[in-house]
Amino acid sequence: MNKKIQHIDTIIVGAGIAGIASAYYLKKGRPRSSFFILEALDNFGGTWYTHNYPGVRSDSDLFTFGYSFKPWKDAPIATAKEILKYIGETIEENKLQNHIKYNHKIIQAEWSSREKKWFITADHTKSRQTKKFSCNFLQMCQGYYRQNQGYVPEWKNLKDFNGKFIHTEEWPKNLNYKNKKIIVIGSGATAATTIPVLAKKAKHITMLQRTPTFYRTSTIGTEEIASTLRDITNDSDWIHKIVREQILINQEIFIKRCSEEPEKVRFELLKEIKNILGENFDVEKHFSPSYRPWQQRIALTPDAELFKSIANGDVSVVTDEIDMFTKNGILLKSGLELHSDIIIAATGFNMNVLGDIKFIIDKKILNLKDTITYRGMMFTTVPNLIWTFGYFRQAWTLRAEMIANFMVRLMDYMDTVDSKKITVALRKKDENMKILSWINDEEFNPGYLSRVLNKMPKSGSNIEWVHNQNYWYEKDIIPNIDLSGEEFIYE
Ligand SMILES: Cc1cc2nc3c(=O)[nH]c(=O)nc-3n(C[C@H](O)[C@H](O)[C@H](O)COP(=O)(O)OP(=O)(O)OC[C@H]3O[C@@H](n4cnc5c(N)ncnc54)[C@H](O)[C@@H]3O)c2cc1C
Repeated sequence: MNKKIQHIDTIIVGAGIAGIASAYYLKKGRPRSSFFILEALDNFGGTWYTHNYPGVRSDSDLFTFGYSFKPWKDAPIATAKEILKYIGETIEENKLQNHIKYNHKIIQAEWSSREKKWFITADHTKSRQTKKFSCNFLQMCQGYYRQNQGYVPEWKNLKDFNGKFIHTEEWPKNLNYKNKKIIVIGSGATAATTIPVLAKKAKHITMLQRTPTFYRTSTIGTEEIASTLRDITNDSDWIHKIVREQILINQEIFIKRCSEEPEKVRFELLKEIKNILGENFDVEKHFSPSYRPWQQRIALTPDAELFKSIANGDVSVVTDEIDMFTKNGILLKSGLELHSDIIIAATGFNMNVLGDIKFIIDKKILNLKDTITYRGMMFTTVPNLIWTFGYFRQAWTLRAEMIANFMVRLMDYMDTVDSKKITVALRKKDENMKILSWINDEEFNPGYLSRVLNKMPKSGSNIEWVHNQNYWYEKDIIPNIDLSGEEFIYE
């Protein structure tokens, strides 16, 4: 073996909330196997480390976004700082510190069937040196978007604007927005998070949206359950488990209602807004999306804070299309010109495909789009790799933990059958299966997904080849997958 290549059993890509979950389960489930996490950044936390815009917080409650094995003891919605602290405690409590190599950005992963190993090339971002590793198994916890890089649509004359232009993904340190006129472009989760906070200091904020978004104004009763239980006991493990279960049940009912009686749910969501903004506000125009509730993630505005800032005049809403940027602001297709000192784009992410890593399988470059995904966890033709991709509509971590457990079970099974290579492949009964796009856009269709759909793996019409987004289905299926099934090829 080449001395310069450090070998380890498993490499986990990324020290975000998912990578740390994988490390926890790997350490607990396979104490004799070696692993480390390669992380491009200089700290853990991923999303919660890189986002700095004012007010940045979770959208999910931390009883489900937090880990099942570490109770959440605070208010259900948490700031990035609180989530980072929670992840940091998990690392410390489970002695994972020495398993993380920071500043290691993986640029290439090459599989050799002859050696039954992955060969990994990483850029050490501080020393600019190239580091080489090899491993038996790769656990991809790369998240789904490029950190510190926002998506900016191709707007006409952007450079003509004389004020400051900022993307929420690339928030500058010490931005002075006191008494400034601000336009925030976008109305999704990020806009709903930051606008009420910016509004406290800014002169005025205009939320400019091309199309409306659905909002929730509470975490479906979580606060009440948690505080009632805290009155009874201080057993945080017990409280965490009960609140988590209750939230999951509430969510299941809500998500079911969204598909079974979408118009009723729409009516209820809009009614909450009408109660705050009054009958004279055109709620239908600004807050009634063309899609069904849950066809895109519903943004949270706790305590209806966004609508309270609109009601008190700190924030106004414009639903229109951008024609071009001007010296003083934005000219809209309707002919209206909005003036502002600062324009903030809350226009989303650029998705990363497998951590933007170049994958080579037995000397052939991998095009992920040529593969079919096995339950959104593995890909045909890609050996010894598990892909962690959480839920869009429920807490991401619920799925991340499930997949980490699956990985441990699969590795144990490989030991039992004395196998060094596992690949998934279509079965005989899949021969005539319909090949479909990765995610059914009738079900879920946010812009950041549609923009990369042509680079993503395919799915199939048989359930094993579907990337499911239903926790209630997967929680019973994934832990019980028959690893001796025809779709698993062990060598
Ligand atoms: C502001 C904000 C709020 C959110 N709120 C919620 C929420 O409330 N609920 C929810 O379910 N989801 C939420 N999300 C989505 C969120 O990203 C995920 O839920 C979750 O944090 C993702 O965790 P992760 O560990 O999978 O990925 P990330 O947090 O993205 O971490 C991935 C890590 O992998 C590293 N990495 C990637 N590629 C490489 C490479 N090639 N080499 C080395 N390292 C690499 C990255 O540097 C990063 O540290 C939110 C997203 C944002 C931006």
